[in-house]
Amino acid sequence: MPLFGRKEEGKVPLNNDVMMKCMCGMCPVQVQSACTQPKLKMMMDMRGKMGMQSSGMPAGSMSMMPGQMGQMKPKTEDLPGPYCSIGKAACNDLDKSKACICNQCQVYKDFSLMAGKPVEHYCFNDKAI
Ligand code: SF4
Repeated sequence: MPLFGRKEEGKVPLNNDVMMKCMCGMCPVQVQSACTQPKLKMMMDMRGKMGMQSSGMPAGSMSMMPGQMGQMKPKTEDLPGPYCSIGKAACNDLDKSKACICNQCQVYKDFSLMAGKPVEHYCFNDKAI
């Protein structure tokens, strides 16, 4: 069952593991984007909660099923990545002239994205298929 009502399936699922490994938040392509800043903050907050979860600290009522983000279900347009999973960025002030760091990302390696399409700049080119 796809998360967030995604219609087309790409190569990369949107799950906790991918969210934790995603490097889009530190990518030069979008770090200067004013539109992206609140989304980045939200993503960091989400990752903080996921990190606490996996380390077993405040479990209990906050617990999430593996592969799901529990009560945290942001719309994909509110996420600043992983664009290889969710497709193009909703913000239009990203700087495509900057170097793409997708191929340095563990998600890229985990899902063999070098063999998929497109091969980089998913934030502009859409999700990996
Ligand atoms: S999809 Fe690639 S180029 Fe775009 S922000 Fe993420 S890491 Fe950077």
